[in-house]
Amino acid sequence: MAKKQFQAESKRLLDLMIHSIYTNKEIFLREIVSNASDAIDKRYFKNMSEGGSGLSREDYAIHIIPDKEARTLTITDNGIGMTQEELEENLGIIANSGSLEFKSEHEAQEDIDIIGQFGVGFYSAFMVSKDIKVRTKADGSDVAYEWESEGAEGYTIETCDKDEVGTEIILTLMDDTEDEKYSQYLEEYRLRELIKRYSDYIRYPIKMEVEKSTLVEASEEEKAKEDYEPQYDTYLEEETLNSMVPLWKKNKSEVTDEDYNNFYKEKYYDYTDPAKVIATHVEGVCTYDALLFIPSNVPYNYFSKEFKKGLQLYSSGVLIMDKCEDLLPDYFGFVRGLVDSQDLSLNISREMLQQDRQVMAIAQRIEKKITSELMDMQKKDREKYDEFYKNFGLPLKFGMYENYGMNADKLKDLVMFYSSSEKKAVTFAEYVGRMKEDQKYIYYACGDSIEKIGKMPQIEMLLDQGYEVLYCTDDVDEFALKSLMKYDEKEFRSASDDDLGIEQSEEAKKESEAKNEENKDLMTAIKDALDGKVNAVKLSTRLKSHPVCFSTEGISLEMEKVLNAQPM
Ligand code: ADP
Ligand code: MG
Repeated sequence: MAKKQFQAESKRLLDLMIHSIYTNKEIFLREIVSNASDAIDKRYFKNMSEGGSGLSREDYAIHIIPDKEARTLTITDNGIGMTQEELEENLGIIANSGSLEFKSEHEAQEDIDIIGQFGVGFYSAFMVSKDIKVRTKADGSDVAYEWESEGAEGYTIETCDKDEVGTEIILTLMDDTEDEKYSQYLEEYRLRELIKRYSDYIRYPIKMEVEKSTLVEASEEEKAKEDYEPQYDTYLEEETLNSMVPLWKKNKSEVTDEDYNNFYKEKYYDYTDPAKVIATHVEGVCTYDALLFIPSNVPYNYFSKEFKKGLQLYSSGVLIMDKCEDLLPDYFGFVRGLVDSQDLSLNISREMLQQDRQVMAIAQRIEKKITSELMDMQKKDREKYDEFYKNFGLPLKFGMYENYGMNADKLKDLVMFYSSSEKKAVTFAEYVGRMKEDQKYIYYACGDSIEKIGKMPQIEMLLDQGYEVLYCTDDVDEFALKSLMKYDEKEFRSASDDDLGIEQSEEAKKESEAKNEENKDLMTAIKDALDGKVNAVKLSTRLKSHPVCFSTEGISLEMEKVLNAQPM
């Protein structure tokens, strides 16, 4: 039986393509520019291997030409161009990617960084255009062709006049409507913004003529006049809009701290330098570069619902996602930065990833990296770490408690608690290092403030005997400790727990037993008077200047308060 070919209804398919793949119309420019970059890459590569064009790397460029009168946006490149046949195949068949083909033919070549692969990006321009002309002349050809289409109805191809090798894409923008102002794509600021946002790291210059102005010199006499207004001359000047080489792809030895700091401040609208810059390049199953920043201050909306954690995700220098949440655990949500990888399998709109596996792998490594960098800061620059902890200690403690304490172990060396003896926040490791020889537990006490805890009758004896006590002043603190349960095999124990594990001498034990026995009736009477509000009343050896205190078993009063306050 002869196998029949599926027939795609191209008109419907194109319609689908144009209207359902992308969530964001503005990405059309990213797609057209990426194609131009691919085309230049191909020509560059071809010339490298065959020799010939007389062009050097600096001669390659992409131009963006908005024309408000004609309502056109033109994107030109001096890349490889297309023959008539290639026009038919690449722009006439949906989902045919000349770039993917090129990539697989030249797989071994290390430094080509072709972006295209799905063969649909070009059609995204129909989201904003009512007519598209592609004028192109292939490298090595004498004839140029013009492809034209108004969308679903089809296209025409004719020969045309074009001197230079390369391609010119002329988009006639749709008419503005109430909801959609397509003319925005002719505005300088908007084009600048889009190039910066999506195509900043395209490796070839993206140039545009931009308006500049100079002050017209005026005589002193004129300036003195009451109605003097400064006059400006405006003129056009060509400017390169993209940075081309991403900071994170530059040789580390060429990048100064100041470069990183400026990059951070510009990109994240912060006035202060970051507390820490983490720049890494990782090779392996998934090769990527990451550039991460720990802010010096708490971002203004960090503790609000509007705050969204995440890192920017780039694929070969092209922005894919602005906030990829999966790249950061919640407790490192304050970290800003980006990840760039060539190894991501993107979905067809290049707006999302096809599978999380790669992202998960990167996320895991990034988490480890942030942890180790913070540990490094803690060891080498404690003052800085204290400052960091003041800002972001709380999310770390929440991180220990969240998800049933799954991450408590990972965070245990980063968290700190106020210490009764050191009068500042200390790590568990530091506490354990100072523990007395016979000390069984890590003691902590909970209260509203450090002052209040300091006055608690329960901790008086501990302090008196020279034990160090950690003060828990945030609601989450005790939950964080409970999630961890132990540090270095030492259990945490609330100072108000009945059993503090402090051995009394045989004598003292006997004495207190005898005293309890002696006062049995009094204790029972007090318990009865409290009428079921307490479990037991005992004579305590713990008190010194206070007559009475509460003690608990397992769960502290503070914790009970928090639990009770939570909505059921
Ligand atoms: P993709 O870039 O994923 O391959 P596109 O729909 O964006 O898909 O483009 C389809 C094909 O058209 C490209 O693979 C390329 O062969 C060709 N093409 C598009 N734009 C240009 C250009 N400016 N110069 C040369 N060829 C181009
Ligand atoms: Mg493309």
